[in-house]
Amino acid sequence: MANQDDQFKKVISHAKEYGYIFPSSEIYDGLSAVYDYAQNGVELKKNIREYWWKAMVQMHDNIVGIDASILMHPTTWKASGHVDAFNDPLIDNKDSKKRYRADVLVEDYVAKIEAKVEKEIAKAEKRFGDSFDKEQFVATNPRVVKYNEEAQAILKRLGQSLEKEDLVDVKALIEELGIADPETGSKNWTEVKQFNLMFGTKLGASAESAMDLYLRPETAQGIFVNFLNVQKTGRMKIPFGIAQTGKAFRNEIVARQFIFRMREFEQMEMQFFIKPGTQKEWYDYWKETRLKWHMSLGMGEENYRFHDHEKLAHYADAASDIEFRFPFGFKELEGIHSRTDFDLAQHEKFSNKKLQYFDPEENKSYVPYVLETSIGLDRMFLAVFSNSLVEEELENGSTRTVLKLPSVLAPTKVAILPLVKKDGLPEVAKEIFEDLKWDFNVTYDEKDAVGRRYRRQDAAGTPFCVTVDHDTLENNTVTIRHRDTMEQKRVKIEELRGIVAQEVDIRNWLLKTK
Ligand code: ATP
Repeated sequence: MANQDDQFKKVISHAKEYGYIFPSSEIYDGLSAVYDYAQNGVELKKNIREYWWKAMVQMHDNIVGIDASILMHPTTWKASGHVDAFNDPLIDNKDSKKRYRADVLVEDYVAKIEAKVEKEIAKAEKRFGDSFDKEQFVATNPRVVKYNEEAQAILKRLGQSLEKEDLVDVKALIEELGIADPETGSKNWTEVKQFNLMFGTKLGASAESAMDLYLRPETAQGIFVNFLNVQKTGRMKIPFGIAQTGKAFRNEIVARQFIFRMREFEQMEMQFFIKPGTQKEWYDYWKETRLKWHMSLGMGEENYRFHDHEKLAHYADAASDIEFRFPFGFKELEGIHSRTDFDLAQHEKFSNKKLQYFDPEENKSYVPYVLETSIGLDRMFLAVFSNSLVEEELENGSTRTVLKLPSVLAPTKVAILPLVKKDGLPEVAKEIFEDLKWDFNVTYDEKDAVGRRYRRQDAAGTPFCVTVDHDTLENNTVTIRHRDTMEQKRVKIEELRGIVAQEVDIRNWLLKTK
């Protein structure tokens, strides 16, 4: 655990030191769970957004994008169920006065059991070597079977109690499991209460005429209310999708874990409108398609898993999370939800407008079903950033810190470095810089010894360093050094663009499956 904590602290301090993420309004000591993206962070975030957008919108001829407003008519949130049901169960510790999400306390308890299972598996893997059959071990090892049964039983009970809104039983479960305040160890808990997560605000100048609004807690509703506008003006035929990226706001009870759980965050959502009855098929399709997208970034198959929901939200008939191994364990990164016709039917009811599709093949109108894929851009950022940050032991015994970002996402693709700050080398380096900047984000650095500059670029995540030396003046060649292998190759200046383009080409990345 200490190790995980240390690793996570390194991630947070590295993000600040290398200009990725700053706490919001830091000069006033920050605002809890609100963060600013810095000069490199904004580029990484933009590249992740673009990687998603291209995969979802550009590569699907039946998916289009929109950009709806953050403020929406307040009835939207009555229809969607957020006014009545967008709650989290909270519990306070009477001694420490700390507030927690009751379901998260239980889930963290289960995560500890799961960690024990992983430990047993790792131990056995070591013992049996190549002949180790993980599936068989998990199915038959008495200790692992017992742990897994225990974890399943707890999650099932939690799911059922939350579904029935039986908050008394959630508290009873916390007490039976002997769960203590993680910070102080106290078990002196209050009752469990529901807490609505939406931020309220007002529209209008005078107090009497002002209208109560909410900051949207998800981007999805902006898509639903525009369903017919897009379908008609885009002449879309079912099945088709509408995608959107944008800010969402949630007054999270416990906002720890850096940008994993923020109060203001960005979502990348796609609602796929389908014929009722085909939801199972599309659910499987989107689960597989979204997992492939994650795999294309090459961040390790073993770091992902599906978690199928026991407790379904009020709108869903099936739901699964793609979980990622964050520095603090496996947690939700993306949700894939089969939302039935819940949202469109609700908006029909509350607006008195028909939100139906005339299906020429069936020769009838119906309210489409919806398959949703929803991923937090900031969570994806954290997944990419934390997974990429490594300390490497080098052959000469020294260590280097390197941010092995997938190069397609890296904020800066190339650093141009004159070997020394004289003899006309800076001039040639600047010429290369001026040329490459038309195609890529590039940077120029002439300060300090070249070895130190390499380290600086490694830690910032720049995939290539190009060094201009005295031979360059003779024969127009430079060395190009790759961040991950540290290999240096001598190439012609005019070859640079092609080499970098090949490495960061989105096509090459998206076509990778592992
Ligand atoms: P959680 O259970 O972690 O609160 P959720 O199930 O409420 O998440 P959804 O409503 O399904 O999340 O939202 C879709 C995605 O939005 C999540 O998979 C996550 O990546 C992202 N997300 C949700 N809440 C936050 C938050 N507070 N900060 C950052 N990202 C978030």
